[in-house]
Amino acid sequence: MDCLFCKIAKGEIPSTKVYEDELVYCFKDIAPITPIHYLIIPKMHISGASEITAENSAIVAHIFETAAKIAKAEGIQDGFRIITNCGDNAGQTVKHLHFHLLAGVKMGWGPESVQAVE
Ligand code: AMP
Ligand code: ZN
Repeated sequence: MDCLFCKIAKGEIPSTKVYEDELVYCFKDIAPITPIHYLIIPKMHISGASEITAENSAIVAHIFETAAKIAKAEGIQDGFRIITNCGDNAGQTVKHLHFHLLAGVKMGWGPESVQAVE
């Protein structure tokens, strides 16, 4: 399958690794929007949040455990945001489930965060 994040998880495409175990891979986003901007992905291919099922949802719990571990290690547990974009209207550009871990700046929240763009 021609999937960018499957290739990154396998090390076939270079990335800056932050954390890895047998189930997940975490690396730096190539175009960070906050001072800390990591992506946490399952090593197994799941195309997005709409494809989470009773059979594969344990990986999501593991991803959130991983995020908490990384937040502690980075000293950002006082303020971070986890986002997953699903589908074209949400701006998902890579069709392999991934969670953005954003931190290092005070972030706004409200309707302006989700302005319609077209
Ligand atoms: P999304 O738009 O939610 O699908 O997020 C995809 C993210 O992947 C974007 O923030 C991109 O900057 C990031 N990205 C795309 N290609 C790479 C890459 N080769 N290495 C690291 N991050 C990437
Ligand atoms: Zn994939």
